Amino acid sequence: FFIPLLGLVLAFYFYSAPENFNEEMLRGKRVIVTGASSGIGEQMAYHLARMEAHLLLTARTEAKLQKVVERCLQLGAASARYVSGSMEDTAFPEVVVREAENTWGGLDMLILNHIGYSYFSYFNGDVGHVRKLLEINFLSYVAMTVSALPMLKESEGSIVVVSSVAGKIGSPFAAPYSATKFALDGFFSSLRHELITDQVNVSITLCILGYIDTENAVRAVSHAIRGTPAPKEECALEIIKSGTLRQRELHYPSSACPFPHHWGSPMLMHPGSLRRDAPEDYNTQHENILFSNK
Ligand code: NDP
Repeated sequence: FFIPLLGLVLAFYFYSAPENFNEEMLRGKRVIVTGASSGIGEQMAYHLARMEAHLLLTARTEAKLQKVVERCLQLGAASARYVSGSMEDTAFPEVVVREAENTWGGLDMLILNHIGYSYFSYFNGDVGHVRKLLEINFLSYVAMTVSALPMLKESEGSIVVVSSVAGKIGSPFAAPYSATKFALDGFFSSLRHELITDQVNVSITLCILGYIDTENAVRAVSHAIRGTPAPKEECALEIIKSGTLRQRELHYPSSACPFPHHWGSPMLMHPGSLRRDAPEDYNTQHENILFSNK
């Protein structure tokens, strides 16, 4: 009786997370943010800059990253730099992590947020597209985690994985995207158990987001989904808070909770949340793009 009880007490002590968020918790922390050239990732970079963190940002578009880095430095980042490249390139995740290691000699927080281009329509049977999206949205997250884990173990740091309601509940017109987000939940929820079992104090926070007002998301789905998207600035801050507080899951906005009484949530895309004219749109517009990052 006493041994399991002692184990429980030790586990509680060992994994006790801070209860209240304070911006100073991020001061001087070394943080990687992927998909930081636009949308939620860009906003996370600005919040972290204000909090005086060291930043390493990544995405494909160098010109955008340069501007984000400039603004981060103006906002007060302890340091800010970028590495540009595509997560479709299987060597790139390690390149990014090595850059952090060579620059800082360690890492406190890994925020995995990028997504590749997909369409918002009936599944078109293109297996190659699903494979490519798995590489960008899922396998690169795994690869970055593997490369970063030694440094995160050392710092007792955090991994933050940005996912979606579409990664908790299947809904129409986003089959490839949804598959990659479900994969994140399976992998990272399992890995979290293993880290706890091994008494490795690296936290994993899975962020379940609903409809957020980023330019790409609004352009892709506003014609089809009812409801007002939640603000990307607030969303970015909530992600940082929950990662810092080492929470297991964030549901933002609160209506993005994937349980039946919340089925009115816009991103769930259950029939009540789709506009009445939506199915015809989807039938005819096979080129509709979900989060269109060409
Ligand atoms: P954006 O489209 O605004 O940003 C995506 C980022 O990923 C950009 O920085 C883009 O930069 C980068 N990116 C795209 N393709 C690649 C690639 N091949 N390799 C590396 N980087 C790439 O997305 P959001 O801000 O809207 O979404 C951020 C996260 O939030 C995602 O994980 C998304 O699934 C999740 N989410 C968003 C919702 C929303 O409504 N906005 C709803 C639910 C979840 P570049 O093009 O320069 O490479």
